[in-house]
Amino acid sequence: MPTDAPARGLILVIEDEPAIAELIRLNLVAAGFAVRLERDGEAGLAAISRHSPAAVILDVGLPGIDGIEVCRRLRAAQDWTPVLFVTARDDEVDRIVGLELGADDYVTKPFSPRELVARVATVLRRTQRVTEAPATLQVGSIRLDPVERRVHAGDHEISLTATEFDLLAYLMRRPGRVFGRDQLLSEVWGYSAIAGARTVDVHIAQVRAKLREASPIRTVRGVGYAVEPNRAPGQAGA
Ligand code: CA
Repeated sequence: MPTDAPARGLILVIEDEPAIAELIRLNLVAAGFAVRLERDGEAGLAAISRHSPAAVILDVGLPGIDGIEVCRRLRAAQDWTPVLFVTARDDEVDRIVGLELGADDYVTKPFSPRELVARVATVLRRTQRVTEAPATLQVGSIRLDPVERRVHAGDHEISLTATEFDLLAYLMRRPGRVFGRDQLLSEVWGYSAIAGARTVDVHIAQVRAKLREASPIRTVRGVGYAVEPNRAPGQAGA
């Protein structure tokens, strides 16, 4: 990790255990991030709207409203700031992925601070990467603008989380190719097999639920997922 890294943006850490919050803060600062700490959900939500952090590290178990409710309120307000959950138990992981809260990633306690920092950097790289393929992508009625990070199904704009957007964009850039879950984890999330194949399935399900019948994503049984290529112009309308 370069020691001369410039400030890489503000990370808001919402964590009620001072020792853990401080450990996270020290590691983020060492990696070049600016850090703000909040100890409960209400203060955390206020800080998000006041400071517009680049990403939020969100403990699930908080006094007052818990981390899951914080994320729910954030997304209900159409705020798609990347959220990385810190969880203490597997059943919390089930709630995070099962409730389709629009979490971008999670780590389970006890976690390695370096791992957490790497996850933050990966999420930011994904959400801030706007130059890789500037051309608008279109498959069927789905139109994806990588620069403005907007997706439309026909005239209807679809709100996707950062991770959902990157997953859809990755598949739409490579129509007709089938990708396994491990490959998608590695290419889209930036690490392999840690979060498990279920993470991919859940995010695919979320994208499909939002795009409904316009979804171009096909399940290839026993292999993974692919986006159907557009038909050749002469075949359109069939
Ligand atoms: Ca806690």
